[in-house]
Amino acid sequence: EKISKGLKKTKDSVIRQMDQMFSSFTKVDEELFEELEELLVMGDVGVHTSEKICSRLREKVKREKITDAAKVKEALKEIITELMEGGEELNLSSKPSVILVIGVNGVGKTTTIGKMAADLKASGKRVLMVAADTFRAAAIDQLQIWADRAGVDIIKHGEGADPAAVVFDGMQAAKARGVDVVICDTAGRLHNKKNLMDELSKISRVIQREIGDNDMEVLLVLDATTGQNAVNQARQFKEAAGLTGIVLTKLDGTARGGVVISIKDDLGIPIKYIGVGEQIDDLQPFDAKGFVDALFD
Ligand code: GDP
Repeated sequence: EKISKGLKKTKDSVIRQMDQMFSSFTKVDEELFEELEELLVMGDVGVHTSEKICSRLREKVKREKITDAAKVKEALKEIITELMEGGEELNLSSKPSVILVIGVNGVGKTTTIGKMAADLKASGKRVLMVAADTFRAAAIDQLQIWADRAGVDIIKHGEGADPAAVVFDGMQAAKARGVDVVICDTAGRLHNKKNLMDELSKISRVIQREIGDNDMEVLLVLDATTGQNAVNQARQFKEAAGLTGIVLTKLDGTARGGVVISIKDDLGIPIKYIGVGEQIDDLQPFDAKGFVDALFD
C-alpha cells in the first residue's frame, strides 16, 4: 500500500496512459506494441529495456495466442517482473555483516542509512552505524541525527579523519558489542574514479580483515527523480566499485518510476530497497512482484 502511494505520480502519468492505450485497442496488433514501446521509453524505462520488453511480449502473445488487449497487460506484468527478479534480498549471512553505502551528495544517502538501520532493527538485528564519510562535518552530524532517530549506536571521528580508521573502530566495536549489521556511510562519490576506488579498497581491506572472505554489501544510492540519468550514474560507479545492489530513492516525488524497471536489466545489479518518502518508515525492501502489482493495480 505504501509502495502504491509512493508510486502515485508514475501511476498518474505513465500507467494511466498505458491503461488508456490498452482499452482503446480492440485487437492485438503491431501498432499496439509500437505504442507501448514508445510509452515505456517516455516513462524512463530506457530504450534498450523497452525494446527487450516489447520483443518478449510479442513472442509471448504469439506463443500463448493472446488476442485480448487486457490479457496483454497481464503478460506485460509478468515480463517486467521476470526482468527485475532475483537478488533483491540483502546478504546478511556473516556476523557482523557489513553494508557499505555510496552515492553522490543529495541522492538521499544519509536518510537511506537511517531508514535502513530502523528497518533492520525492527527485524530484530543489532545495528551499528559507522560515519566514514569524514569529508564534511555536516555529514557526520546528519548521520548522528539519524542514528538517534533509529535508536542505534554510531561510531564517528572528527571531520577529515581517515575513513579506514573510523571503519576499523567500527568493526572492533561491532565485535565487542555483538552487532549483527554494520552500516557504513562513505564519502564514496565520483570526483575522481581513482580516489573512489582507492578509498573503497582501503575500507574494504579493513573490513575483510575482520570478516574474512564473507561477502559484504556495497549499495549505491540513486535518486529516481533523475530518471535515466540515474542509470548512467550507476554505470560509472559500477566501473569503480564492486556494487552488489542499488537503493532507488524519492520515487514518491517523480513520475519517472519506470527507471526501476530498467536498472537490473541494464546493469545486472539488483535493487534492494526503494525510498518512497522522507519519514523513517518510508523505505521498502524491494520485491519485484510487489512492485509491479503496486504499479499496475
Ligand atoms: P545525502 O546528501 O545523499 O546524504 O542526502 P540526504 O539523505 O541528506 O537527503 C537529501 C534530501 O532528500 C533530504 O531532504 C531528504 O529528506 C530527501 N529524501 C531522501 N530520500 C527520500 C525519499 O525517498 N523521498 C523523498 N521525497 N525525499 C527523500
